Amino acid sequence: MAHIFCIANQKGGVGKTTTTVNLAAGLAQVGQRVLMVDLDPQGNATMGSGVDKRQLPHTVYDVLLESATVAEARVRSEKCGYDILGANRELAGAEVELVDLERREKRLKAALSVVDAEYDFVLIDCPPSLSLLTLNGLCSAHGVIVPMQCEYFALEGLTDLVNTIKQVHANLNRDLKIIGLLRVMFDPRITLQQQVSDQLKGHFGDKVFNTVIPRNVRLAEAPSYGLPGVVFDPSAKGSQAFVAFAQELVERNRST
Ligand code: ADP
Ligand code: MG
Repeated sequence: MAHIFCIANQKGGVGKTTTTVNLAAGLAQVGQRVLMVDLDPQGNATMGSGVDKRQLPHTVYDVLLESATVAEARVRSEKCGYDILGANRELAGAEVELVDLERREKRLKAALSVVDAEYDFVLIDCPPSLSLLTLNGLCSAHGVIVPMQCEYFALEGLTDLVNTIKQVHANLNRDLKIIGLLRVMFDPRITLQQQVSDQLKGHFGDKVFNTVIPRNVRLAEAPSYGLPGVVFDPSAKGSQAFVAFAQELVERNRST
């Protein structure tokens, strides 16, 4: 059975998509079978995996509305080494269209359960809001990986997310838990970042991943080439950190 993880944080621009595609590529590099699900209508994770969102015959939108199965809608990126269930702007409409449908929060879960056995990891890139889309992600998942920048308001923002996860756990998905907090875009020269990082460890203990993702321009450049940094420039510090993170995640899930 696959480990199904959402990459979520209600804030925009914190590194969710970068984490999703690079972790997917990192996991693939260490021999894991990976499906990456793009749940953001912006389709950045799709484009960042080298798949043109405008050319897709089927996307996660069709899966949510049950007009296609995951097997029909997914595409393979040989370069990246993982499968992609893509998204584009059409997905924004799903929000409205799902409202009146039955099992509206659990449609992704049902669809993924069919392909579950084909993967070791399913990673879901969530949009930066608590929408019906994010709820579909959270209902499908065993846990949440939270990328965060070590900034002044980081802990405050986390409270909202932790409450959301608690509510989903209580009402919709008993499996859901926080897998861990990933420090991203980290710059050790900035004293404040060190302080917030220490605070995080104080509050959350071993829920904070050991691996730290540094701020690295190669990770930011990679999407314009339609590749995760890990594939675009494997020698970059940021890429190496994501492969190390993939290894840490595999290791953690072996012992649980
Ligand atoms: P989100 O999906 O949470 O909105 P993104 O992953 O799109 O966030 O990241 C926001 C911006 O920050 C993007 O331009 C991305 O390239 C850049 N970025 C993300 N992680 C890093 C990093 N470790 N180093 C440098 N730039 C990064
Ligand atoms: Mg994103």
